[in-house]
Amino acid sequence: MTVSHILGYPRIGAQRELKKVTEAYWKGDVSREVLEAEGQALRCANWQTQQDAGLDFVSVGDFAFYDQVLNVSVMLGAVPARFNAQQEVSKGNVDLDTAFRMARGRAPSGTPVAACEMTKYFDTNYHYLVPELHKGQVFTLASDRLFHEVDEALQAGFTPKVTLIGPLTWLWLGKAKGSEFDRLSLLDSVLDVYSEILSRLATQGIEWVQLDEPALVQDLPLAWQQAFERAYHRLQSAPLKLLVATYFGALGDNLSLATRLPVAGLHIDAVRAPAQVESVIDRLSPHQVLSVGLVDGRNIWRADLAALRERLLPVKVRLGQRLWLAPSCSLLHVPVDLAQETELDSELAGWLAFARQKLDEVVTLAKLIDNRATPIDELRVSEATRALDARRASARIHQPAVSRRLAAITAKDSQRQSSYAHRSVAQRRALALPLFPTTTIGSFPQTSDIRAARRAFKAGELSQADYETRMREEIAYVVERQEVLGLDVPVHGEAERNDMVEYFGEQLAGFAFTRFGWVQSYGSRCVKPPIIFGDVTRPVPMTVRWSEYAQSLTDKPMKGMLTGPVTILQWSFVRDDQPRATTCRQIALALRDEVVDLEKAGIQVIQIDEPALREGLPLRQHEWQAYLDWAVESFQLSAAGVADSTQIHTHMCYSEFNDIIGAIAALDADVITIETSRSNMELLDAFQDFAYPNEIGPGVYDIHTPNIPDVAWMVALMEKGLEKIPAERLWVNPDCGLKTRGWAEVEPALANMVEAAKQLRQRY
Ligand code: GLN
Ligand code: ZN
Repeated sequence: MTVSHILGYPRIGAQRELKKVTEAYWKGDVSREVLEAEGQALRCANWQTQQDAGLDFVSVGDFAFYDQVLNVSVMLGAVPARFNAQQEVSKGNVDLDTAFRMARGRAPSGTPVAACEMTKYFDTNYHYLVPELHKGQVFTLASDRLFHEVDEALQAGFTPKVTLIGPLTWLWLGKAKGSEFDRLSLLDSVLDVYSEILSRLATQGIEWVQLDEPALVQDLPLAWQQAFERAYHRLQSAPLKLLVATYFGALGDNLSLATRLPVAGLHIDAVRAPAQVESVIDRLSPHQVLSVGLVDGRNIWRADLAALRERLLPVKVRLGQRLWLAPSCSLLHVPVDLAQETELDSELAGWLAFARQKLDEVVTLAKLIDNRATPIDELRVSEATRALDARRASARIHQPAVSRRLAAITAKDSQRQSSYAHRSVAQRRALALPLFPTTTIGSFPQTSDIRAARRAFKAGELSQADYETRMREEIAYVVERQEVLGLDVPVHGEAERNDMVEYFGEQLAGFAFTRFGWVQSYGSRCVKPPIIFGDVTRPVPMTVRWSEYAQSLTDKPMKGMLTGPVTILQWSFVRDDQPRATTCRQIALALRDEVVDLEKAGIQVIQIDEPALREGLPLRQHEWQAYLDWAVESFQLSAAGVADSTQIHTHMCYSEFNDIIGAIAALDADVITIETSRSNMELLDAFQDFAYPNEIGPGVYDIHTPNIPDVAWMVALMEKGLEKIPAERLWVNPDCGLKTRGWAEVEPALANMVEAAKQLRQRY
């Protein structure tokens, strides 16, 4: 029989129960007992769901109150010294509050202290806590949470497979702190603890342990490749079976390495990398299990069961009992249950599958290829076929005008009329800005008042007209404040936006929204990405009336504010029936129309935000250029429809530009605003070394803290910037948008910023 399993299930709960209870616990509203009980209830419910669906195992180890990478760090005793947990570690019992303090700097008990760094898990939107590694660090088994969860599952009568981040990927995700050293020097000690964990699991009666090693789909230095063999030779002595799980891409040059590992099974991603299935089978040793991930764990589209069955039959012939089936990766990255989406129209809902539905897909597929399909399975196949045939032919998806427009794009469409050198002359004439012009990144405080108005509007308690009036009042206030502060390029403040992607998605055709389609982003924070299901068009202008109104209130050039095509793409679930590049270009053309309409309405400065450009980079370096080519072209397409005198800004809120500076320059935005305050202007080096030709606004203060920056500090930062970039090309602005701040901080901070610019003007 073909084994069906999953690599992990979303832990947040269909109604975000986990978020609610952890936040209540942090606030002190519920006790530790209540928190633990709710965690246990969620685990049990998820296992029950998996068993009821007919999976051969339930997944244990995918639960975490905050993050599964943090769980492993705690288990290894990798708790940095500042958390003062040496005793807890040596007793083998790190407290949950210690883990929470590692995650967020504070917990109901213990002294607040700087949290660990957080970053995105491979190319997902899930953030993990970065393990902090020190030279000579020694690891020790410091938590028995996992073993309790295993007992819990066993006592409830489930058949668990345990899942853990593998030792190499855990080290790979870690960051060396203090003096530089080779992270691999810690491997032996890490393996000591993994061996102990595996023995304990074996004693508990666990047969299979899945060790996630997605590092194997990345470019690994030789030493790391060799370390894999060494590590798994050591772990193979454990009296249970290991399944090494790889996902998010092809094994590529790590393929023969992965298939040579002395483990009982290997999982591969056959959605992102369908071509590798055959070559992996060729190299697998005759007793090894191959788990094929054919149901998309990263996206929400329904699987074409009939087609997958055809693809799998020859694989089944080759592998027989050694074939396992699973989603491509953990289901952590998709929403929980489509059945809750009662407001989604049934046609569209028929094209989708969330985590719960993907379990059925995997189980049915296994039965189909085993020739043991029941009438329910047959029904699932025919329903999927019918829905997907309808999807392929649907007039809601294919707009001939969109494909015609895309086909007609020429190289000229992505180029501004003149070079930056020419444009800057026209812009100086049109805008008459002082040296060191001051501006902000777009949003002003999203007060509870604004959010209440939006909630009332969405609930139908506030009319469209009243809502618009309320937003106009807010815009008038924000513009007036900026006049008083003396900002050179004001903004309208983005009060009308709930979220920088959702706001545009709601107005573009081809997008759909769910009610409960939450996906964990980090800790208790969840996001609800829009679904791009069809060709994208812009039926009517989206932001023009707001910007036009804002411009009518001031003589200064009002900056129009848009989210860029790459960011909209990156933060959505994207259709899988055409290349991402095509969808991105469609969004770009819709935005181009908006940019041109803004210009027609008298807006002379337009910002197109691309904070997600960098995170779209593929996991393998050799794929970077192809991505950057279409990403850059998309941005250019959205921007290039305007006259030389119209100034295009872009904004990116991160600080690593070295390896993509060529692409950043190719965007050819007249002005780029970036995050720099925390890096002390060091990241301007990349721009200096590249001889970046256009204007730059290096953020002079960090908007992530409530601290009010002082004038001298910002002047000093700009002086640093001036060592690298000439004064005529420097702007003065904060690091990012101000929507999470309060007016009490924003006003004095911006007043100081404007004063800093004035002082600079006197010196240059
Ligand atoms: N214009 C957006 C804002 O100010 C940019 C946000 C972002 O870069 N993430 O809120
Ligand atoms: Zn930003």
